Amino acid sequence: MSSTAGKVIKCRAAVAWEAGKPLVIEEVEVAPPQAMEVRMKILYTALCHTDVFFWEAKGQNPLFPRILGHEAGGIVESVGEGVTDLAPGDHVLPVFTGECRECAHCLSEESNMCELLRINTDRGVMINDGKSRFSINGKPIYHFVGTSTFSEYTVVHSGCVAKINPLAPLNIVCILSCGISTGLGATLNVAKPTKGSTVAVFGLGAVGLAAAEGARLAGASRIIGVDLNPRRFHEAKKFGVNEFVNPKDYNKPVQEVIAEMTNGGVDRSIECVGNIDAMVSAFECVRDGWGVAVLVGVPHKDAMFKSHPVNFLNERTLKGTFFGNYKPRSDLPAVVEMYMNKELELEKFITHEVPFSEINKAFDYMASRGQLRCIIRMDG
Ligand code: NAD
Ligand code: ZN
Repeated sequence: MSSTAGKVIKCRAAVAWEAGKPLVIEEVEVAPPQAMEVRMKILYTALCHTDVFFWEAKGQNPLFPRILGHEAGGIVESVGEGVTDLAPGDHVLPVFTGECRECAHCLSEESNMCELLRINTDRGVMINDGKSRFSINGKPIYHFVGTSTFSEYTVVHSGCVAKINPLAPLNIVCILSCGISTGLGATLNVAKPTKGSTVAVFGLGAVGLAAAEGARLAGASRIIGVDLNPRRFHEAKKFGVNEFVNPKDYNKPVQEVIAEMTNGGVDRSIECVGNIDAMVSAFECVRDGWGVAVLVGVPHKDAMFKSHPVNFLNERTLKGTFFGNYKPRSDLPAVVEMYMNKELELEKFITHEVPFSEINKAFDYMASRGQLRCIIRMDG
């Protein structure tokens, strides 16, 4: 047992005090894990656009002060009562959506929407007792999606932790804890393109490029990347994207452009933007008869999806997914093995690295749009 087990740990955390204001590195107190929880030491974390949306809180409910962060890798420090499948020293990836292994969703092969631990972006406390494990001078600081990885130590429900191969380099596989698995799974598990098919990917950030990587692995022959930022196109070639469309270059809807390019529409499309117009275009660009569109982007809280019902009658399918339909505890270790076996390349997603003390730079890189993934080293 570690010497800190059962005790409060004081450590550094990057606290978001207010919407859109730079994070502040503070000394926080992290309470011991309660029943079915684990406390983990974060070694590496990365910035995903979902963190930025909730930090800006423009299209999402504001909840502050809060410790953001959900894409990370680390080591279990101690476990709470009732945790039998994890032990101090285990290498783990925390995940924003969990797997209790008991509910109807966890028992179904089709769903990863665990009733107990599915993503809840409005909750800032642990489900066990409705309290936060973080505080500064007795004042609670809210959690974020059950992970709060912008802290040297965090407490997570044991159902939101995937135990992985200890030989896997955490500074690289930490990006499988959210964005890359999400994009990859959206293609492989949800869109399921067949060999030789045509796939459109909307949004060529890390999530969209991971979706393209999935299309490449599935043997798609045409992978059409759609983005408003032409700088993304150069990068996307490395991920198997072989045709590009910038909606700004046309004076008609991008779905019409794609229908013309493909003689009726793509077999599959995956939306990785979070913008409602992109979602509608991603649906309307699939071929009638068998086309499937998958929504991945996190929408504005007031967004409404609007498309003519005939688009559905014409035998198109619209789906959505969290975490690429992977069950975090059961499926993520195998995705890590895909990297270990060199089937999946991850290094090309990592474009920046900063020490934890400079975490705000990761937000700047994202704003300047050059970033895919920025690794934040917790020891710096
Ligand atoms: P990102 O910002 O790196 O990439 C988004 C890309 O979309 C950018 O290249 C941008 O130029 C492009 N874009 C913007 N508007 C567009 C439009 N109208 N048409 C086409 N392209 C457009 O973001 P990311 O980290 O790759 O995340 C993508 C989305 O996935 C976000 O909404 C994020 O919140 C969401 N996400 C969802 C899940 C899930 O489980 N469903 C998990 C992780 C992230
Ligand atoms: Zn469950």
